[in-house]
Amino acid sequence: MTTAAAADILVVTDLKKYFPIRTGVLSRISGYVKAVDGVSFSIKPGETFALVGESGCGKSTTGRTILRLYDATSGDVQYNGEDVLGASRERMRKLRKSMQIVFQDPYSALNPRMTVGASIGEILKVHRIAAGKEIRERVEEVLVRCGLEAYHSWRYPHEFSGGQRQRVVIARALALDPQFIVADEPISALDVSIQSQIINLLEDLQDAYDLTYLFISHDLSVVRHMADRVGVMYLGKLVELAPKRQFYKEPLHPYSQALLSAIPVSDPSIKKKRIILKGDVPSPANPPAGCPFHTRCPYLMDVCRSVTPELMRAESGTEVACHLVHPIT
Ligand code: SF4
Repeated sequence: MTTAAAADILVVTDLKKYFPIRTGVLSRISGYVKAVDGVSFSIKPGETFALVGESGCGKSTTGRTILRLYDATSGDVQYNGEDVLGASRERMRKLRKSMQIVFQDPYSALNPRMTVGASIGEILKVHRIAAGKEIRERVEEVLVRCGLEAYHSWRYPHEFSGGQRQRVVIARALALDPQFIVADEPISALDVSIQSQIINLLEDLQDAYDLTYLFISHDLSVVRHMADRVGVMYLGKLVELAPKRQFYKEPLHPYSQALLSAIPVSDPSIKKKRIILKGDVPSPANPPAGCPFHTRCPYLMDVCRSVTPELMRAESGTEVACHLVHPIT
């Protein structure tokens, strides 16, 4: 399990987010979808920590629960040493200036009835960052910083291309002068030709403003380019956590190995063995006992069916939750 260090900007400990399943005319709770089930990690200032995994693994819910867009079921989130989950509404309003999110779909993230200048200006007013003439100056400054023109502030979201809209969403987050940004699949709704431009923009902004990113993605090629460290999620749990280089060189968890084997290689002379996983991801409403991956794992052992492996550090420095790497003695 990851432990807190003084220099960490974000420390997440045993975070859980369960969504109730309601049934019947009385909407009684009949179970829970365990979207995030005991996740712990920390992020250093200026770092890009990537959360990866198939859709439905809980990576986006983790990001949103950290920012309190969802109420956590339990756990602890410390941001610059401050208790986020226990913060008052007023304190949370202040923390939100510093903790921003960029969503996957830039169109639905913007109000179609407001010009982008009005959308960004409204946030500046709500957070009392600027007033009067300063608002327009700040709006134009962040739009230009994000690769748009000052006159774009008078335009409506539908007048932009997908890539430009995502620039607007990034500009809106940047306007508040944040330290930490959750980038939740920020390029997956964009054309491939535009994706690298947005990735370059995020990198430029990180350098210019010392930003820290929680980068959520299912695309391991993009993560390889962006991340400093990688966390792999499966059924609401972290199953591997490693520095990027180590992760791509020697993934230890069988699920990570399968994910990495599916990345296409550009050189046709390189033969790569693809690991095809059998079966579907089990429902997070009824996760399997023992190792969450045991219903699909090619290395399944008896112990895997009943004992849940803990995330523990291996010799290489990678933290991994697997009985193959950490046999039970
Ligand atoms: Fe596979 Fe067992 Fe490791 Fe789970 S604990 S990944 S089932 S070998």
